[in-house]
Amino acid sequence: GPADFGLGSWPARRARISPGRTALHQDGRTLTYAALAGRVERLAGALTRLVVRAGDRVAYLGVNDITVFETLFATARCGAVFVPLNYRLSGAEIRYMLDDSGASVLVHSPDTADLVETAGRLPDGVVITTGEHGGFEAEIAAAGPPPETGVRLEDPCLLLYTSGTTGRPKAAVLTHANLTWNTVNQLAHLDVLGTDKALCIAPLFHCVGLGQITLPTLFKGGSVEPVARFDPGTILRRIGEAGITSFSAVPTMLDMLCRHESWDRTDLSSLTCVLYGGSPVAERVARAWLDRGVKLLQGYGMTEAAPGVSMATHEGTLDHPVAAGVPHFFTDVAALGPGLTPAPLGETPAELLVRGPHVFGGYWNRPEESKASFVDGWFRTGDVVKVDDDGWAHVVDRVKDMIISGGENVYPAEIEAVAVRLDDVEACAVVGVPDERWGEAGAAFVVRRPGARLDEAAFRAHLEQHLARYKIPKHVQFLETLPVNATGKIRRVELRARAAETFTNGPA
Ligand code: ATP
Ligand code: MG
Repeated sequence: GPADFGLGSWPARRARISPGRTALHQDGRTLTYAALAGRVERLAGALTRLVVRAGDRVAYLGVNDITVFETLFATARCGAVFVPLNYRLSGAEIRYMLDDSGASVLVHSPDTADLVETAGRLPDGVVITTGEHGGFEAEIAAAGPPPETGVRLEDPCLLLYTSGTTGRPKAAVLTHANLTWNTVNQLAHLDVLGTDKALCIAPLFHCVGLGQITLPTLFKGGSVEPVARFDPGTILRRIGEAGITSFSAVPTMLDMLCRHESWDRTDLSSLTCVLYGGSPVAERVARAWLDRGVKLLQGYGMTEAAPGVSMATHEGTLDHPVAAGVPHFFTDVAALGPGLTPAPLGETPAELLVRGPHVFGGYWNRPEESKASFVDGWFRTGDVVKVDDDGWAHVVDRVKDMIISGGENVYPAEIEAVAVRLDDVEACAVVGVPDERWGEAGAAFVVRRPGARLDEAAFRAHLEQHLARYKIPKHVQFLETLPVNATGKIRRVELRARAAETFTNGPA
């Protein structure tokens, strides 16, 4: 048949080398690489028989399980584009993504049936429910021959929506080449082995779940165990009993795991690599893992880079516990210099530019935003980064989150990192509010730990001890929780609206 070196060919290629090894395992069900390759071929045949043609979009809604992988590979095998959606979104948000992506097929798990119902039907599309009775197995059984479509590495493979932290989620178009080069980058950095057992706990609709360790492990012939729901107690038990070697998480997950009551008695000795990324981690959390002798590595990246840009090394992490490491093997970094031109990245915080074969070419259906996100072939990350003497990258904050107060640049992330050093503070987020005198002023939202007695004066005293005066937020408000999205990112848009309402309209 025609050439296909795309993601959809991975199971069959891997099955030539290690057919009998376990590719996927979940709740007592095991698929070897040979079995996975067979099912992917048949599902690709079924998708072709239904409607799917090269370039079509196949949306997916469901928790992490074996079916996500089967559908991802089968879709890629058809030369079609996989669009994993966040099942924590509302029906209206899912509707927007179905329309925006123009999906002609929606594959979903039985437990998201209500969400599919509220999102509304696909105009001319097909909806398949996974599981025993939903038609998925029947489709595989009734499949015709697999497609004869050739796939070029520069063809789109994945439409991955960004987290929507700074605005409406945008779909990054990731090609087979982008995903392959990201895998190469990760493997150049990590000691992933064919004997590894990776737990897949970060959601697969997000780049951390898919790109950081999962695809690299499958590429190497290791086994991946998808975890449907994040429950810290179950995960800690599973690490010990299954001899899990690796997983990838977002910082809030690491925090919940190390604060769980069974943390101290969990056997972590099988872990050879724990990766995390997606948002900043509190030093306390990183230390909790490092103190247990775990090889904890921070990765920094974004959906648009498929996703890895830089990563820590084990040796370096002990000296730089919360830094983002060094750029990946096939990744170039630069600073956005004067006149919007690339300049060397140094100790002065600047917007980070990235280029590499893993970086996307643009957003789906958004020519203006796509154009605006590149300068001279470099992707504008929107993140403020600096590099220390050792060449290690430190993510300072997002450009959009920076507060300009009285002409000074204030980075909320710096204030938040100081705030959570207080034992009484569980979480803190600082946003800017319009201010008559300073142009903008900081507003801190603080969540106290249960039972903590911290008041505003004590909170301020702590900040004043560690930060210059102009950085101290003008307003402080205690909240029960902070609004966060599915990957633990703080929804600052909401907090900004709340701050503007609370602190700018009231009496001066
Ligand atoms: P949107 O682009 O829709 O506003 P988002 O940027 O949060 O949302 P993602 O692609 O999921 O969407 O996240 C990438 C961003 O997450 C990066 O640009 C950076 O701001 C942040 N990030 C990723 N890794 C790290 C890290 N290790 N430390 C600090 N921040 C990180
Ligand atoms: Mg972004």
